[in-house]
Amino acid sequence: MDILDNLNPEQREGVETTEGPVLLIAGAGSGKTRVLTHRIAHLIGTQKAKPWQILAITFTNKAAKEMKERVSDLVYGSEDMWISTFHAACVRILRREAKHLGYDNNFNIYDTSDKLKVIKDCAKELDIDTKKITPRSIASAISNAKNQLLSAKDYQGSNLYEKQIEKIYKMYDRRVKANNAMDFDDLIFETVRLFRLNPDILERYQQQFKYIMVDEYQDTNHSQYLLVNFLAKGHKNICVVGDDDQSIYLFRGADVANILDFEKDYPDAKVIKLERNYRSTQCILSVANEVIKHNEGRKGKNLWTENCAGEKPVFFHGTDHIDEIQFIADEITKEQAKGRKLSDFTILIRANALTRSIEDILLKRDIPYQIFAGTEFFNRKEIKDVMAYLSIISNPADDLSLTRIINVPRRGIGNKTVERLAAVADEKNKTLFEVLKEDADGIVSRGKDKIKQLVMLIENLQEMSQYLNVTDLLDETVNRSGYRNMLQSDKTDEAKIRLENIEELFTVTKEFDNTHGGNLDEFLQQNSLASDTDESEREDSVKIMTLHSAKGLEFPVVFIAGFEERLFPHIRSMEDPKELQEERRLCYVGITRAKEKLYITAAQSRALYGRVERNKVSRFLEEVPKNLIEDKSIKKYSMDNLYSQSGPQRANVNSFKMPQKQNIDMAYKVGMLVEHKKFGQGIITEIKSLGEDQKITINFEKVGSKALMASFAPLTVV
Ligand code: ATP
Ligand code: MG
Repeated sequence: MDILDNLNPEQREGVETTEGPVLLIAGAGSGKTRVLTHRIAHLIGTQKAKPWQILAITFTNKAAKEMKERVSDLVYGSEDMWISTFHAACVRILRREAKHLGYDNNFNIYDTSDKLKVIKDCAKELDIDTKKITPRSIASAISNAKNQLLSAKDYQGSNLYEKQIEKIYKMYDRRVKANNAMDFDDLIFETVRLFRLNPDILERYQQQFKYIMVDEYQDTNHSQYLLVNFLAKGHKNICVVGDDDQSIYLFRGADVANILDFEKDYPDAKVIKLERNYRSTQCILSVANEVIKHNEGRKGKNLWTENCAGEKPVFFHGTDHIDEIQFIADEITKEQAKGRKLSDFTILIRANALTRSIEDILLKRDIPYQIFAGTEFFNRKEIKDVMAYLSIISNPADDLSLTRIINVPRRGIGNKTVERLAAVADEKNKTLFEVLKEDADGIVSRGKDKIKQLVMLIENLQEMSQYLNVTDLLDETVNRSGYRNMLQSDKTDEAKIRLENIEELFTVTKEFDNTHGGNLDEFLQQNSLASDTDESEREDSVKIMTLHSAKGLEFPVVFIAGFEERLFPHIRSMEDPKELQEERRLCYVGITRAKEKLYITAAQSRALYGRVERNKVSRFLEEVPKNLIEDKSIKKYSMDNLYSQSGPQRANVNSFKMPQKQNIDMAYKVGMLVEHKKFGQGIITEIKSLGEDQKITINFEKVGSKALMASFAPLTVV
């Protein structure tokens, strides 16, 4: 089979235009990602490129994994290709080149909670009140600066607030570097710096990457954009694909302008548009189009599909969140009885906090589920502790990890002692581990022996790491450190769960050892980048995930829960028109994940964040003409009763009345002549049953063939 066979002409053009810059801008589900996978296969198949000459950037690790799988279905050699996220590609480059920037090549990667901890420490030391400026807001200010490539040295605050950020940023930066570590933003920042400072290294990579591709280009930020541009300057064979309507990472500094500027940066770029949607039914697509229409300044796209009209998206308004989720559970059970698998269903939510109530009910109903949004495995305390041990074994300069485990399990090294040791480390410009080894005797009076034992433990494990695989090393670590013992002797349920989680970590290391050969550095590197969408999928369970993490994915049946003002659009985004537009794009992303069936649900009241919230139905629902959605809530409740309390809410619901159902007992037959209020007269050419309804295809004299739902079409038999 030829690789090009399964593509339409525009997609084919995207695949075959291998030389020179290409911009593919197209709506959801139009096959952009498919073009990239086929493009890679085509480059290999026609021997234009060796696998390692291809760099393909995706947005999540899950997407990278999927892309690799899709490519390996088409050609050999996918394991040698650089198919990964920006972050993972940068880690791979930096592991080789970090020494040019003054880091050790096995630097550590700080995740969000590590980052917050360091920020808190800095703020404390600088006497900055974290009640007034929260660590989170400081973290995001630093993040923004880095995404704009503004280094700690160059950052200059102009007002009081920024001046405080400046102080923290500078101290934070020193600390992280002194620990031989980088945070997520540094990975990109430092790679750009590497290339700026070392033209010869840049040239090597420019030569290597003959073909560069970026998926979800609309969500790249300034530093990522520069990075791609640096690399692409060699061969200029760069193909970026994206959809301006799906840009949802403004808050992380993503800049839709990047997609619009591409033509400026590469005036000879070939621009390709795809307009046919292969994913969703027309009914779903229409709803998506109606919502996104309300955004301003769009490039404007005309998405269409040949997929059948399908079932109307359903809206359900529960009395409370329990009622809402019960409905979802009911529908899942009903659809399951019709032969659907549980893995066909995905529940999308705007805020993580909603997962709790969904979980509660699915548990009670015995419906297996998997969350792709909650506390990630690698963020659990016990996993972080054990990983910190592994980390310090691999990188003795990792002060943060050492501080984390220095007294876990308790070994009598108190906070005061640790502070004193850290101060000496600062003063002498040494790592904490060096101080423990070399200076502790002179600093600490009690607990000297404990410190010696810890140093010995770490050194022993370091030695073992030379010949043990990760699983065996992990086993030695949890035994020798006393971590396992600590949990085993604690008889609480919590300790049992922690122990189970550690056992689960063995599953992870075993798989890693089997597939990757057991190198500790590589293991740490891989898992420091694991994100919430990366947990391996369990067979046959309902998925629950955030709208953000669903980007690029598709599912047969999608529920968007919590479709209420203040939740979606999120309360933080309601005042700012720009952010509101971003919420709308997020809604568009959510709707377009559905292939066959879409449900939108809301609750009139819900217990959330420890109080009862009463929200109006989301404005995004009001933006959809009523006839495009079937309101199932009306069957259970009388809308008027529910909304008797307040004016605006009443108007809101009234504007969303059920369309008047026609009586479909009327026996339509193929060949019958009928008259439609708008389309005039036509002959019925086909009738299909759809549940209680019928889909009838009519060949109208004036407008040609149309498929209509019998219950809603204003038809009379002539
Ligand atoms: P998104 O904007 O959500 O990322 P996308 O544009 O990347 O979407 P894909 O995920 O590549 O779209 O494709 C959507 C679906 O349509 C996939 O299931 C894909 O296999 C299918 N598809 C795309 N093009 C074709 C085609 N020419 N023939 C058959 N199926 C196709
Ligand atoms: Mg895609």
